[in-house]
Amino acid sequence: MTVLTVDTSSRCQLLNITQEVSKAVKESRIHSGLCVVFVPHTTAGITINENADRDVSSDILAHLERVVPLECNYRHIEGNSSAHIKAALVGNSVTLIIERGELVLGRWQGIFFAEFDGPRRRSVYVQVIGTQS
Ligand code: ZN
Repeated sequence: MTVLTVDTSSRCQLLNITQEVSKAVKESRIHSGLCVVFVPHTTAGITINENADRDVSSDILAHLERVVPLECNYRHIEGNSSAHIKAALVGNSVTLIIERGELVLGRWQGIFFAEFDGPRRRSVYVQVIGTQS
């Protein structure tokens, strides 16, 4: 398993980590297989979406903010229920296909770490399984 360290810079942020995950895949020397990207946090997640137009990330974050506002009579005493709910909606793992030693992604897709309670230092676990030839 490879552990990536991610430093986020705002409370809510979609951070493109495609290059870091691709590097972990290349270092695994797996030719054909699967890559699981797992976020071990309860107020952050992971998603695959458009990496061409940055406005897509902004729109996703803005809409999540409207659906799950920061204040809403939540009961959780820590005060960050909106972050927990957003993380639950986005999910905390993605599985990708590896072929010819490369991640298989659509032309416009990127892998985004989804921060909902930042800024802070986060971890992302990457596990690659498959065959080396
Ligand atoms: Zn909490």
